[in-house]
Amino acid sequence: MADLPDYFAPDSLLARHWQQPLCDFAAPPAPAIEPVEAERHAIHAGLLMAIVAAWWNGNLRGSRDSDYPSRVHQRRADGTYLGDRLGDRYLGHNIAALAVDRTGRVRDVDFNHNTIYASTVQHAEARLIRRLFDIDALDQSRRPRDEDVHVARTRLDGVTIFTSLESCAQCSGIMALSCLPKVFYLQPDPSQYLVAQLMHRLSDAPAAQHVPASAFGFPAFDQLKAAYAHFQRELAEGGYFWRSTTDPQRIAREPEITAFLCTDAARDIYQQAADDFQRMSCRFPHARPGADMAPASAAAAQDVLTNEEVLEDARQFLAYAATAARRGTPHFN
Ligand SMILES: [Zn+2]
Repeated sequence: MADLPDYFAPDSLLARHWQQPLCDFAAPPAPAIEPVEAERHAIHAGLLMAIVAAWWNGNLRGSRDSDYPSRVHQRRADGTYLGDRLGDRYLGHNIAALAVDRTGRVRDVDFNHNTIYASTVQHAEARLIRRLFDIDALDQSRRPRDEDVHVARTRLDGVTIFTSLESCAQCSGIMALSCLPKVFYLQPDPSQYLVAQLMHRLSDAPAAQHVPASAFGFPAFDQLKAAYAHFQRELAEGGYFWRSTTDPQRIAREPEITAFLCTDAARDIYQQAADDFQRMSCRFPHARPGADMAPASAAAAQDVLTNEEVLEDARQFLAYAATAARRGTPHFN
């Protein structure tokens, strides 16, 4: 066994785990979540899926001259495939992230924009975190400066992130550096090899805890996991995601999760979650989970929304995000 490099302190988490088998700490048990808190998380998870459904784009390999056997419901009579609401374009993968503040109000949302920027790093969480810092900087630039300004500008410790897909190393790193405490993800991604969990478990400076949405009983988590496994099996057994109708040699057989996220199966799960969000009512309308965690003053505790107010705020945000906050542009452009 290799020795731990000598620049690590003997009491660091990495040192303490150095000789431990990966299985002992790579996949920690999900935390227990109380029903009132679970309801709140289900609102934000449902909102995130409704936003993705509203801006769904599935033409990963283009709209024309294409055969996508897993997208027959997105195929038009003329043989082209539906893109997003503004055209047949593909701006980025169907992955988005949502930020919620300490009070339960939605702060912002962003999408994966890899395609529009011809990049592999324009991920939803990374884009969202950068914008949250920009929003904070703008907001605080108008306030009188005091000693707290620096602290407030460089931490997002009151923010919870909901991301539609388990985070990669880049986004987990950005979220660790921003000092936000918790991330909920709506679908596991085996191609990220639990890196967010490893970062959380091995980082002496606290890195965000990444929690699967199954921990609060969100049904889409298991549905997406099962549908992706089915997609992988189909491709392993000789299927394909896409084939050119003009050049049959051009064919995509790799079972990428981003390809799965263009399929009818994935779209149906997102649409179902969006419908459930629209029909949702609160079992605990007057609960204010987390109010006791708020800063000491009673006024701050009263800032925390009730679950019913969280649902109303989320519905208002959906109306905004589905219209004004166009995918593929900065907001309001
Ligand atoms: Zn990422």
